[in-house]
Amino acid sequence: MGTVIADTRSALDTWLDDRRGTGLDEPATFVVDLHGALRVAPRQSEHVACAAGQDVLAAGEITFAASDSGYFVQAVSNHSTGYCPDPDCWPAVAAALDRLSMPHPGGFTAALIFRRCTACGERNIVRDDDFACALCDAALLSHWNFYPA
Ligand SMILES: [Zn+2]
Repeated sequence: MGTVIADTRSALDTWLDDRRGTGLDEPATFVVDLHGALRVAPRQSEHVACAAGQDVLAAGEITFAASDSGYFVQAVSNHSTGYCPDPDCWPAVAAALDRLSMPHPGGFTAALIFRRCTACGERNIVRDDDFACALCDAALLSHWNFYPA
């Protein structure tokens, strides 16, 4: 519930109008689906539900704000523990937003490094360049390693 498939700007604007009274300041969940369309849902939504269970080109959290000339993207990240996307998914996000003529920052305002531990399978967020598993302390790979199952 509450997911908008923003295949047009007016669809997204209508969704944002609805949120304006209550939760525009709160980051929303987003994915870019395989058709390149932006899907946005309230933050408590799982990314996988937002994507209707499909693979995605990008995923994360997005915060919109309103100005006199309309809505714009204030902050956007690749924070999705469901998809663990690499920061290099940004071009798909930019393309989806550009298609909607939605102003955006030109890159992730926060970019997270996700790695799957090859020893224990734990999904890690790498912080401070510390490539060690938080669960078992095994070394994490230098490259992104979440491939479609
Ligand atoms: Zn581990």
